[in-house]
Amino acid sequence: TKHFPVRKRGRELLSNVVRKVRAVDDVSLTLRRGRVTALVGESGSGKSTVARLLAQLYPRTAGDVRLHGESTTVRGGRRFRAYCRQVQMIFQDPFASLNPVHTVRYHLTRALRIHGNAGDDLEKALADLLTRVQLTPPERYVDKFPHELSGGQRQRVAIARALGADPEVLLADEPVSMLDVSIRLGVLNLLRDLKERLHLAILYITHDIASARYFADETLVMYAGRVVEGGDSETVTQRPAHPYTQLLIESAPDPDQIAGYRLSEKDRGTGEPPSLINPPAGCRFHPRCPHVMDRCRTELPPRFDIGADHFAACWLYDRAAP
Ligand code: SF4
Ligand code: MG
Repeated sequence: TKHFPVRKRGRELLSNVVRKVRAVDDVSLTLRRGRVTALVGESGSGKSTVARLLAQLYPRTAGDVRLHGESTTVRGGRRFRAYCRQVQMIFQDPFASLNPVHTVRYHLTRALRIHGNAGDDLEKALADLLTRVQLTPPERYVDKFPHELSGGQRQRVAIARALGADPEVLLADEPVSMLDVSIRLGVLNLLRDLKERLHLAILYITHDIASARYFADETLVMYAGRVVEGGDSETVTQRPAHPYTQLLIESAPDPDQIAGYRLSEKDRGTGEPPSLINPPAGCRFHPRCPHVMDRCRTELPPRFDIGADHFAACWLYDRAAP
């Protein structure tokens, strides 16, 4: 759980009420090695906040993050440092995440040295990293500056830098959404290949549910700070159970293309995601839901199991209901 306080303005300064944005509420997920888990949702759904919590970029309001069952609650300890090496993050904008005044060699050498992975032969370690991300021959790329590379090549350098830590987990926050459509698939295929060869656990954050179907083993759907549906990617995308997931899939322009989805006319008609300062009571999706029932307005739906590997937080699946 992560709540951000909202800075007070004007007459609010006189009141004692602290308002907060409930960015992430009670989200629980498990990443496993050799698997890609997609976290799908619109912007503002809290999915990037989940990634940042897992990357320990800011403290949690409540809850715990465990690696191999060990809690990382104490910041700064030995276990915390080990976690920060084993869990690496890749950001959306590879241009912003690489320092423009430094070469590829600098970025990768720094990552290798910080994590003690430079070994005796730095040139070989650099060449290995570049080869892993298919920037070959390595000598063509190692002394380039970020502006001399394409967006896709820069993102590959950012991935190589993450691999320099020899991680077990990659947190990839919209890793291809700023790249040309034509090269997105290549970067996703690279990540999938790395998952297999290095036995990585990957969290793939995206607003594009079609790419989750293509790329992820498991898919979780977030709405307004909560996970509303989850399961095997094939099932969640082919037989979506939650009305919000159904809406996301209907508004994806072409389920067979790896492309960003835009809200369709139809979707705009049903409203926008709610404010997280005062989220709707009960099911947070109820103001937009075509199936809304009375209890949805007051009671928060728990997760209901739909199949062996499929759940939805929606009262439609309450078998105990009359
Ligand atoms: Fe719709 Fe109710 Fe299900 Fe929420 S709980 S998605 S409002 S049917
Ligand atoms: Mg984001």
